[in-house]
Amino acid sequence: MGENDFEMLLKMLASPAKVAADVWRRLLAEPSAGQRAQLALWARNVAQSRFGKGVYVRALIEISSWCRNNCNYCGLRCGNRLAQRYRLSREEILECCRQAAVLGFNTFVLQGGEDPLQSDVWLAGVVAAIREEFPAKAITLSVGERTMAGYSLLRSAGADRYLLRHETADAGHYSHLHPANMNLENRLRCLENLKELGYQVGCGMMVGSPGQKVEHLVKDLMLLDRLQPQMIGIGPFIPATGTPFEGEKPGSVDDTLLLISLLRLRFPCALIPATTAMATLCADGTQRAILAGANVVMPNFTPLHCRMKYSIYDNKKSGGSESARGLDLLVKNLDGIGYHVDFSRGDYGGC
Ligand code: SAM
Ligand code: SF4
Repeated sequence: MGENDFEMLLKMLASPAKVAADVWRRLLAEPSAGQRAQLALWARNVAQSRFGKGVYVRALIEISSWCRNNCNYCGLRCGNRLAQRYRLSREEILECCRQAAVLGFNTFVLQGGEDPLQSDVWLAGVVAAIREEFPAKAITLSVGERTMAGYSLLRSAGADRYLLRHETADAGHYSHLHPANMNLENRLRCLENLKELGYQVGCGMMVGSPGQKVEHLVKDLMLLDRLQPQMIGIGPFIPATGTPFEGEKPGSVDDTLLLISLLRLRFPCALIPATTAMATLCADGTQRAILAGANVVMPNFTPLHCRMKYSIYDNKKSGGSESARGLDLLVKNLDGIGYHVDFSRGDYGGC
């Protein structure tokens, strides 16, 4: 693709008009290495014009490695006999929040498998306790598919945001990634319910998941355009031992960076994390994601004795700048690319 064509396609992303499938297709399939670098520069400039050189930090607390689901890609799937299980108590979760608060964090993200023992009622009690102790902090949940009543209870208890990746917008591909009792329709219904309840909502997909084609990514991007999420989480697929996809190859770091940049141009104000999966696949993955337009990092506050057990994929990074103790390293790494940590709540501010 020539330079003029490429720039014309990128400019279409900044327009409020709907982006045609063929525009996404070409942007995904055709850019040269030079064009990818140019795209990253544009995306970085857009992010800087909205957020300066600050990167929001969220304290990630992985509250349970038990899951009733059997997603084919995930090391926590219930069918993985090699998985090590733990669940945090309410007091342990509160203690993680306290540690993060002492360091200046203003958002707690409670993420976990769909653990039947961490019911809506139980979790609402935890959220209410966090809300009472930390009235001004943001509480984000990422605990999978729940009923409208469940989401409503959690929202009333004080949860502000919810992360639920749609994983893939193609129903056939969704069936390839999930067991028969899970479907795209229900996932999308959950996302609509979360929106209706006034959560700031995050969705997104893995890049390079088994069976993923360019056409699926085109559908993903068009779905995101329709849903207009406040947060968009994408990261490369990484195989997990003990799952049906353990022998598959990981997703590409470069393709993930390309997608982060395209998303930044299309959703200038979205909160887009530099994911742990990026940091796992490449040593400077966090910095590269930020230079491609990401603006959030989620250091890990899960208690150390549990952290290795939250093994959603192999060799998941949980030390270095991904851990609380590594905050200094994160500060140094960001400083190395001219950025800094922004400890504010970092709510979605709209455009
Ligand atoms: N259970 C909740 C859910 O599924 O939304 C939250 C926890 S789940 C582990 C969080 C995300 O991890 C999923 O949405 C999925 O995209 C990602 N994930 C799971 N297995 C992965 C893998 N093998 N490689 C990369 N990302 C993975
Ligand atoms: Fe459970 Fe989430 Fe993993 Fe699926 S992706 S098995 S729902 S933890």
